[in-house]
Amino acid sequence: MDLSYIINQLGEERENYFNAVSPPIIQSSNFAFKNTDAMKAGLVNEKDISCYTRGKNPTVDILRQKIAALEKTEDALILASGCAAISAAVLTNVKSGDHIVCVSNPYSWTYKLMSVFLAKFNIEVDFVDGKDTANFLEKTKSNTKLYFLESPNSFVFELQDIQAITEIAKSKNIITILDNSYSSPLGQNPAEMGVDIVVHSLTKYIGGHSDVVAGAICASKEMINKIFSNEFMTLGAIISPHDAWLLIRGLRTLEVRLERIENSTKKIIDYLDNSKYIKEIYYPFYQKSTQYQLAKKQMKFATGLFTIQLNTNDEIKIKAFCDSIKRFVLAVSWGGYESLMLPSCVFTNSTVPNNLVRFSIGLESAELLIEDLDKAFKFLD
Ligand SMILES: *Cc1c(COP(=O)(O)O)cnc(C)c1O
Repeated sequence: MDLSYIINQLGEERENYFNAVSPPIIQSSNFAFKNTDAMKAGLVNEKDISCYTRGKNPTVDILRQKIAALEKTEDALILASGCAAISAAVLTNVKSGDHIVCVSNPYSWTYKLMSVFLAKFNIEVDFVDGKDTANFLEKTKSNTKLYFLESPNSFVFELQDIQAITEIAKSKNIITILDNSYSSPLGQNPAEMGVDIVVHSLTKYIGGHSDVVAGAICASKEMINKIFSNEFMTLGAIISPHDAWLLIRGLRTLEVRLERIENSTKKIIDYLDNSKYIKEIYYPFYQKSTQYQLAKKQMKFATGLFTIQLNTNDEIKIKAFCDSIKRFVLAVSWGGYESLMLPSCVFTNSTVPNNLVRFSIGLESAELLIEDLDKAFKFLD
C-alpha cells in the first residue's frame, strides 16, 4: 500500500456518507441493529461491528485502519492518550510476579508506570542502558515477560538496536513493546524489525497541530484482540469522534510537514555544530553521535526533536538565554506546527543537569529560527 493511498483513501467509504470528501464526525454513542440476529452478531464482535462507541466508532475506525497500515501491522487501536496506549499494552502482557526490562530514561509517565504503578501489583522492573544490547540479556530472568523500548528515548534520544534486542526476546518468548512517537510511522517501522507492539503518542507529529491528545497501539490481530477485550474495553480510555477527525486531518499533511521539519532541523543542527556556546548536541542523525550508524540503519530519517547542552551551568545566564528567545514557544510537548523549547532548568527534583535545552522544530523558516538563536546566544557571553 503506498503512502498517499493510506492517507487519502484507506478506510474512507465515501459512498456511505453522501460522497463527502471529508469524513463525517459520527457523534453517536450507540448504533441500531436491523434485527435480533444482527444484534447477536454485533455483540460478539464489538471491535469490528458498530455497536457502542467505546468499542467501535466509524470515524475513529478510519483513523485506526490508517495507523495500522502506516505501521505495517495487521491491526491497531486508538486510545485517549499516548500514556493510555502504553499502559494498556503493558498491562495486557504482565501479571503479579512477572518481571520487565525497560530502557532507562523513557518518557516521564512511562517511568512512573514502570517504577511506581506496577510495583503496586508486584510487578518488578529493571531499567537498563539501552545503548548496550547485552544489558537486556543480562537482566533477563525466568519470569521476564516484557522488554519495553523507546528508541530514540526521551530528552537525549539514545537508540536501542531494535533488531538485535527483538532477536533475544524471541528466543526467550518475551514480548517487545516500542514507543515509536519520536520517529512517527514514516521514520521508522519497528514491527518490520521484530517488535510485537508499537505504541504512539498521536498527540505529537500525527496530530501535528497541538490541539489533540491521543495514542495508538499497533500489533498483530491476535494481540489487538487480546488488548481490545481486556484493557481497552475495561479501562475505556477512548477518544471522541471529533478528535479522531482532527487526527485524520493532521495525517493528510504528515509527510510534507516531516519533510519540511527534517530539512529545517538539519540546517539548525549545522548552525549549532561547532558553536562555542554548546557542549553537546543530542540528535540521532548528528554525524558526530556514536550511534549515527545505527540511526541510519534503523531509521529512515530523524525528525525535529533534539537537545543541546550549553557550555555553562550559570542558571542566571541560561534563563536569560531562554527568556530572550522569541520564535520558540516555551512549552511542553512537541511535534506541532510551532517550534518549542523546554529547558531542563525548569525541572524541580530532577537528576538531569540544568544546562540542557530541548527544541522541537516546527514549520517556521529555518533562517528565522537561526537568527533568533543567534541573538539569544549572546546572553551567554
Ligand atoms: C508525549 C509522549 C508520550 C505520552 O503521550 P500523551 O499523548 O501525552 O499521553 C509517550 N511517549 C513519548 C516519547 C512522548 O513524547
